[in-house]
Amino acid sequence: MILRWFASSWEVRLVCLTLLALLASIFSERAAAPLSLITAFNLTAYAAGGYFGTRTALQQLRQGEIDIDLLMLLAAVGAALIGEWHEGAILLFLFSLSNVLQEFVIQRNRGAIRDLYQLYPEECTIVHAGQAKLIPIREVNIGDRILIHPGERIPVDGRIVTGTSSLDESTLTGESLPVDKGVADPVFAGTLNLQGALEIRAEQLASDSTLARIVQLVEEAQDRKAPTQRLIETFGKRYSTTVLIFVLAWLIFPPLIWGVDFRNNFYRGMVLLIVACPCALVISTPVAYLSAITGAARRGLLFKGGAFLETLARLRAVAFDKTGTLTQGQPIVTDVHSVADISQSELLQLAAQIESRSEHPLAKALLRAASAQKLALDSSEALHDFVNEPGLGVRARLGEHSYRIGRVPHLADLLPIAESLSATYDSFCAAGKTVVGVVQLHPAQRWLGLIAFADPLREDADRVVQALHDRKIQVAMFTGDHEIVAQRIAQPLGIAEVHSGLLPGEKVDRLQQLAERQAALAMIGEGVNDAPALAHAPVGIALGGAGSDIALDSADVILMGNRLSLIIDALEISQRACRVVTQNIIFSLTGIALLIAGVFLINLPLPLGVLAHEGSTIIVCLNALISLLLVPEIRRKRQLAT
Ligand code: ADP
Ligand code: MG
Repeated sequence: MILRWFASSWEVRLVCLTLLALLASIFSERAAAPLSLITAFNLTAYAAGGYFGTRTALQQLRQGEIDIDLLMLLAAVGAALIGEWHEGAILLFLFSLSNVLQEFVIQRNRGAIRDLYQLYPEECTIVHAGQAKLIPIREVNIGDRILIHPGERIPVDGRIVTGTSSLDESTLTGESLPVDKGVADPVFAGTLNLQGALEIRAEQLASDSTLARIVQLVEEAQDRKAPTQRLIETFGKRYSTTVLIFVLAWLIFPPLIWGVDFRNNFYRGMVLLIVACPCALVISTPVAYLSAITGAARRGLLFKGGAFLETLARLRAVAFDKTGTLTQGQPIVTDVHSVADISQSELLQLAAQIESRSEHPLAKALLRAASAQKLALDSSEALHDFVNEPGLGVRARLGEHSYRIGRVPHLADLLPIAESLSATYDSFCAAGKTVVGVVQLHPAQRWLGLIAFADPLREDADRVVQALHDRKIQVAMFTGDHEIVAQRIAQPLGIAEVHSGLLPGEKVDRLQQLAERQAALAMIGEGVNDAPALAHAPVGIALGGAGSDIALDSADVILMGNRLSLIIDALEISQRACRVVTQNIIFSLTGIALLIAGVFLINLPLPLGVLAHEGSTIIVCLNALISLLLVPEIRRKRQLAT
């Protein structure tokens, strides 16, 4: 891959030409060749080595900015003026070489993401009018039925129509364990079908798949600048100007005032110009964030920009949503309590019928419970005027009757609740259960009953909250659920700060209050119900983002897998990235300081200055590439292999 890229790039050819011309000039000088030949070689080396630098420097100058390329070119020209052509050519060679290497690191990062595209099969088998036909995946339409054999990759996002299998979704979620899937489960483009033959219905075009969106998202993130990066860029520009002014003064005044030898003084000035140049400093931050974002994406953690790495690395507080985040989000119906003349199974059937249009986890639990009891649901045509009131419940008309299902206190405001029913509600709550009420509003206004749900904690919730506490990060919980239920979940986890009974809008308000106290705050939710809060948090983290467009849009960091402990991985990646940035900044600043001292104290020779300067630029790039992209990648491959 390196070779292919090297052969294809003009920059690389020019770097090689610079080196050849430089060597030719050195040898012809040794061999006492005619001056015209030597000069021709020197000029060639300068032209080839300086071409791209001149172009960038002129572009920047036109915007009134002095950048590194200009300093380097001036130093090379200066060296030529005092007859040090070879030193100047070495400088141009090393400078363009290190630019090429920087470009390589960037391409390597792009390539790491682009590799994901190769996970798409080129063709797939669709079934059309009972006939199987092989077509390119570009031609797949929404609604097409596609056959997928064991060992094949899924071509487009879709849902299983027939068959069961286990799928390797590691490319998307970073999770190495295969996931079992059956009829009506979603499947994602680029994932691998391990066992059974499947027939799926395409739900997205190939170009709109989750995988395609991830690639696009990461590429955008790679281009987005983090605060540190902007700071250093501004500093770099001012600093470059200062260096230039200082060196000019250095060239003019000492010979004029103190009568120092002009040539020696000029030589020193050129060395100073080179070693004081902040090349390594300017590249140190972007290259680290770039590699971290790419490395994270390959593990199923999407950062929408380096800024979020910075915030997560110094995170002080986390707000968890309860349902679906701390809990499994797969509640089960535990109690059906009916009043009036309606039976328990009639109540469950009615509630499931009304909730059949809702995507809420509680609604899904009702549907599962109804189908477990083999209660038939009418085709939803009988359902009219369905309205979902987020955080409150739903209302709808079923034939001539209208109903509401939802939060009990809210319903009790509309229709007074009987003493005995209220007592039952309290006892469910005391048992830590989530309760919804069912009321009829037309023709008669009456309570029909209560349904209670239990939603077990996620297995790793305990460990993750503990790990956050260990890092001295405050943990809070947000929920629309009842106070007692909230406490039941929060207490065993050791979460002291609990905000319960919140409507979706109130979640946003509370979050903003928290953010005023603590700017380094992240909100973690499952993305679907919590989109507004995620969008408003300083850092919104969506859990289980694969398959949820809303999560991809509204969150800043998306954990594609559905495992809570991925949050800790995200924190670790952020901290490692910021550590590398700090190392790089300290290294490059120390380097500049030492080399400047070298110029004044030991009269540092030009070639050595050039070598040290360009070497430090290459070192910061490699540090980022190796510790943030290559090492984690090798570790991950080893993990997947075992
Ligand atoms: P959480 O904050 O725990 O994620 P939500 O904000 O989604 O919970 O919902 C809060 C409360 O609103 C639920 O506990 C329930 O009482 C009620 N509710 C919301 N949506 C529905 C629904 N589709 N059906 C019945 N009740 C609902
Ligand atoms: Mg929720």
